[in-house]
Amino acid sequence: MLAAVTSSKKAFVNWSETSVLSRQQIFLRYQQLIKDNLKEIAMLITLEQGKTLADAEGDIFRGLQVVEHACSITSLLLGETLPSITKDMDTYTYRLPLGVCAGIAPFNFPAMIPLWMFPMAMVCGNTYVMKPSERVPGATMLLAKLLQDAGAPDGTLNIIHGQHAAVNFICDHPDIKAISFVGSNQAGEHIYERGSKNGKRVQCNMGAKNHGVVMPDANKENTLNQLVGAAFGAAGQRCMALSTAVLVGEAKQWLPELVERASKLTVNAGDQPGADLGPLISSQAKQRVCDLIQSGVQEGAKLLLDGRNVKVKGYENGYFVGPTVLAGVKPHMKCYTEEIFGPVLVVVEADTLDDAIGIVNENPYGNGTAIFTTNGATARKYTHQVDVGQVGVNVPIPVPLPMFSFTGSRGSFRGDTNFYGKQGIQFYTQVKTITSQWKAEDATLTGPAVVMPM
Ligand code: NAD
Repeated sequence: MLAAVTSSKKAFVNWSETSVLSRQQIFLRYQQLIKDNLKEIAMLITLEQGKTLADAEGDIFRGLQVVEHACSITSLLLGETLPSITKDMDTYTYRLPLGVCAGIAPFNFPAMIPLWMFPMAMVCGNTYVMKPSERVPGATMLLAKLLQDAGAPDGTLNIIHGQHAAVNFICDHPDIKAISFVGSNQAGEHIYERGSKNGKRVQCNMGAKNHGVVMPDANKENTLNQLVGAAFGAAGQRCMALSTAVLVGEAKQWLPELVERASKLTVNAGDQPGADLGPLISSQAKQRVCDLIQSGVQEGAKLLLDGRNVKVKGYENGYFVGPTVLAGVKPHMKCYTEEIFGPVLVVVEADTLDDAIGIVNENPYGNGTAIFTTNGATARKYTHQVDVGQVGVNVPIPVPLPMFSFTGSRGSFRGDTNFYGKQGIQFYTQVKTITSQWKAEDATLTGPAVVMPM
């Protein structure tokens, strides 16, 4: 690990001085190499992580979009200027890299999340130490190899592996200037505190409990399909999974149809044709999800669909859980207060839009939410009053494209600048402001100016 930081520190000297056009060229070649190798990376993700092949391609594609956006660095890195702030004096700014930066990634998006991190940092002139999740290191290794093939000089990107010790090493090493983290609250809060105490910039994207508010005027067919897809896709192992449905008023009647649609999804190994959802990441994850389902039953929720005993032919020992629906859930229940991170939809009910907004705003997380309605005024009220960082209107998973930033808020985020987009550039750069005066000779001062300049 020490060798990785030393190597990145050494590489920073030349990389930060490499012309921005050369850095852009490397990332232009990189995005093409990712496209050329998409199928291979997707297969690697499916075999290692379990998600379906189509979903693995989506994982890469959303990361690729960040790389493509990074190729606009020649405009993104522009500073500001203000000429003639006084006689013969101009002010301008540069956006400069920080030095060695580091990233710590979760298991659920083995390509997308590392691609939120090192490309943005490196195109700004930083060098990088990347720590993938110890559960899915393969995609990061392949992505690093492709970046090397695209022409990134040795030392500009180093990969380290491990769990707690590697994370604490990153938080403590004085040559690491900034840390990007995505993962659970338990790890993120620890990293935010330890990294900040050591004087580093830290951004932490963390856990979620995303609510989909269903109004009775919504397009029913569309809404139920969107809800089921967003709750159970990737076996619910997405930070933007729509894991809580809030049925408002008459929409409460739609519950049986929701359950029916969920029951029709196909659970299978991710590389099998027709699979809608694959297994969970580990036996512990499966046990935890099953325990949370049971806790819901014990606390009085209605188990309308139980995926705990799902059997997948040929994979009898796989960590599968089928789509599960818990209805009549109340905010005090453990299945509501905890992020389940599995294929479990919890359903709560509300009488009015105001009640629904109250429920969402009471929840400590602020990652994502969606409202399903055909009424513009309802949608506008919701988007303005809900205290969540990413809001979809008839869009179940509103992850912003990379010209915007990923803006989870409240309990889902620590830090003050978000991932990718303009905020990503801000995170990975520091501003230097230059004020310069070039006087004509006849304006030379005749004595010391001891008064504060005005
Ligand atoms: P995790 O926190 O277990 O692991 C993330 C990283 O932190 C890994 O690299 C791991 O090695 C390290 N780590 C784990 N426990 C640690 C500890 N106690 N101390 C120090 N380091 C530790 O998360 P995960 O299970 O891999 O991913 C799932 C979580 O990530 C969910 O909570 C999900 O919501 C969240 N997530 C959030 C976003 C987002 O953008 N908000 C995106 C994806 C995932």
